[in-house]
Amino acid sequence: MEKMKVALSIIAAALLTVAISSYWFRIKQNKEKTKKKGRSSICYLERESSKPQEKFKVVLADNSYSQFKHLNVNEHPFKEQIEQILATEPQLLASGFSFFDGTLQEDSIEFLWVDTQPQLELLADVLSKQIVFAVDTEQHSLRSFLGFTALIQISTKQQDYLLDSIALHDHIGILTPIFANPAITKVFHGADNDVLWLQRDFHIYVVNLFDTAKACDVLSKPQRSLAYLLQSYCGVSKNKLLQREDWRQRPLPAEMLQYASTDSHYLLYIAQCLSSELKQKDSETPLCPDDKSHFLLEASRRSNSTCLQLFSKEVEEYPGESAASSIVYHHLSDQDSLLSSSSESQFQDLVRRICAWRDIMARVHDESLRYVLSEQEITAIATKGAATGIKSYDTVSEVDLNADSTCVYFIQTQSPVICSHLIDFEELLQGKASSHDDIFQMIFEGHLGSTRTCPISLFNYSLLSKGSLQLTSRSAPKINGSKAVKQGGRKSSRQLFVQKFSCKSPVYHNCKIYANDGRLLCHCDRKKLEWYLNRDLAKLVEDDPPAIMLLFEPKGRPEDEGNDFYIQSKKNICVGCGEGNHYLRYRIIPSCYRMHFPEQLKSHRSHDIVLLCVDCHEVAHAAAERYKRLIAKEFQIPLYIHHVLNSNEPEKTSGLPASSRNDEVGVSPLHLRAAAMALLHHGQTMPSKRRKELTQTVMKYYGGREICEHDLEQALFVGMTPLERRRFMKKRGLPTIQITSNARNEKNVSPTRDVRISGTQLQSGGGRESAVCRTETDIPPHVVSESVDSENGNLSNGTKNTNASAKNNSKFSLLGHGPHGKQVVDSLLKEHGEEGIREFCQRWRQIFVDSLHPRFLPAGWDVQHRGKRDFGEYSVFNPANKVYS
Ligand code: AMP
Ligand code: ZN
Ligand code: MN
Repeated sequence: MEKMKVALSIIAAALLTVAISSYWFRIKQNKEKTKKKGRSSICYLERESSKPQEKFKVVLADNSYSQFKHLNVNEHPFKEQIEQILATEPQLLASGFSFFDGTLQEDSIEFLWVDTQPQLELLADVLSKQIVFAVDTEQHSLRSFLGFTALIQISTKQQDYLLDSIALHDHIGILTPIFANPAITKVFHGADNDVLWLQRDFHIYVVNLFDTAKACDVLSKPQRSLAYLLQSYCGVSKNKLLQREDWRQRPLPAEMLQYASTDSHYLLYIAQCLSSELKQKDSETPLCPDDKSHFLLEASRRSNSTCLQLFSKEVEEYPGESAASSIVYHHLSDQDSLLSSSSESQFQDLVRRICAWRDIMARVHDESLRYVLSEQEITAIATKGAATGIKSYDTVSEVDLNADSTCVYFIQTQSPVICSHLIDFEELLQGKASSHDDIFQMIFEGHLGSTRTCPISLFNYSLLSKGSLQLTSRSAPKINGSKAVKQGGRKSSRQLFVQKFSCKSPVYHNCKIYANDGRLLCHCDRKKLEWYLNRDLAKLVEDDPPAIMLLFEPKGRPEDEGNDFYIQSKKNICVGCGEGNHYLRYRIIPSCYRMHFPEQLKSHRSHDIVLLCVDCHEVAHAAAERYKRLIAKEFQIPLYIHHVLNSNEPEKTSGLPASSRNDEVGVSPLHLRAAAMALLHHGQTMPSKRRKELTQTVMKYYGGREICEHDLEQALFVGMTPLERRRFMKKRGLPTIQITSNARNEKNVSPTRDVRISGTQLQSGGGRESAVCRTETDIPPHVVSESVDSENGNLSNGTKNTNASAKNNSKFSLLGHGPHGKQVVDSLLKEHGEEGIREFCQRWRQIFVDSLHPRFLPAGWDVQHRGKRDFGEYSVFNPANKVYS
């Protein structure tokens, strides 16, 4: 009978393993399939490698309809300095200072490529000591809605620098004080665009500019192009075609690097030539004696007026309006394209729709308008549509969609944006969306809403906010929780999986609390609003989502504390990639350590629990597991306890002090089970080398002693919770049996598997546990095998009972990381006290950041987080106030 049980359990375990691995494989396979097939519902961006701007963490100008925020809210932040320059004669230029030491007509310019932060800091240091330097920028505009600076060329008298402003995008801002320093003259050629681009991307404002193009104007030169100046002053010819090259390329081809450095290298020399000509003119021209440097001053004035320009996003009454007007205008003035008046009005209506759609789609996908659809294409589609009548569009969806070929016979475009979202485009043409509000509704719901087809990014995220829609719509679309727009196509199993494991309701609530002067204090959940309202401490000022205004003066403001973490609207998205449809809670400090922390250090949970989508969860978790191994080595505390099993000693926990263990990492239950399984099934037939390896693995678990078949059978269940075993047996219709002698530890395991994937509110200070998804089956393998095996072994990690389990060793399995965690924490506390724990936490946050490069962390989140904060008298955060619940 005993043998029978063992045999059954072996089969059972084998089936479980197969089931888990094939499940995951299926998901991956399906994901691939849907991608390859190029279904219209899969956004083309999903098929592409990511765009460089997706790595930016600092995005000052996003694609929403809200206006750009300058360093200063309403005015040019350096207005005074610039106005002062406008009023005075440019001293440096007048001084006859020698700008240029280089040789003209060099074969190749030697430049320094700057693409790391330390290099940038060195450069900043060098530049801050200059009195003049030359600048040029290259930008990329095709695959971006607003465009971005892809390269900055800077030349000093001594050296040429090429700044990789893609790699350094988030850091270039450190040059702001240098560009704003009136004591340093900046030479540009035709700075009008550069000045705005630098503001848009880096909050860099140019103060004290000498623009060689403006100097050309003042001197009435026959031409004002840089190519002309290079040719006539330096004898250097310039291949203008390279201007339009894709400056995002890395590495940049040698030819482009040379071209780029040429643009700034000779500028100081040219500036010197032009300023001496200006001076010359000043001295020649018999003006009134008081007005000596008229020309030089004029060039400087014109240059610095450019600096007063402020970048702003274009504003239209409705999206795409100006493009539509221009297309209609051209159409009306084109004699060959005359239509009957009814067709003409249909044409114009189609043009307006398509232009609105194009504008929104360009913003959603962060593409230029022309990348989405050219004006010629719009004219062609609208002309055909108006001529054939809308009815004929019915056939669109029957065409086999292949993203690489022209979509449909009458929609003459290769635009990936259209081809991968053809169903929407079809609906648009058919007039299903009758107003601009409807077009908004359709796009936001279908593309970025709860059933989104397109990736969320820093560039399009704020399009989702209600405010951005106020442009045209009276009723903002409901982004969350609305019925899906027609999707077309079955849901992949991954989607089903995601649905099953996703948070059913938003984890955070975006209610707001304003101070009595109207300034936003924080975002919170409804409960918190009610707490204040019920006590007459606040009044309701907005309905949906609700917002209250406090009737008392709060102690301190978020901005006072230099930390906007608390004001950050906690978004219901993966902090890694921005995915909003599904997310699991992820603990940055692994539970096996955290559960042993002293109580006072556990209080700041919200900082170290973040939402991650399934994919990011996998990445972060794998990195954490790797790091645990390093910790194990560093502390010489193995991750797993060596299970020493003697015949007369059924079970023995390893109570040995850390120093008496060897430093190797123990055997993971997963490896152990796999090895035991292989040996039991194929031990006789496998190569002896492999057999030896596997035997070693199992022997390690048994403390190095010889093992027999019974040991192998026992090993199959190591690390599995009794519940897992029972459920599994039941599922297969097998009698529930227990094999290992771990039964003593199993009594405390809760009867329902409580998979901690979602739901608990992460409100700072709220601390309420709610809405935890309970699932019975099909847990994603990396969640199952890893959290079950590697944490505490019984899934009690992170629940309210962690306290109890820390005190009561029988609560967690001997086979997880619990004991390892406890020893590490004990050792930290012993050696370094609480500071040691804080540093330990910082290390984990660093690992998290390094492994995932999360792009959507709350603004105030940082690796250093110390979690100190004083709470006001009335604050629900104040421990003295008995918080709602
Ligand atoms: P430049 O001022 O010549 O250094 O040009 C700066 C940037 O302006 C280039 O990187 C391009 O993005 C853009 N640009 C300038 N001229 C053209 C052009 N003729 N066509 C397209 N883009 C241009
Ligand atoms: Zn898309
Ligand atoms: Mn250039």
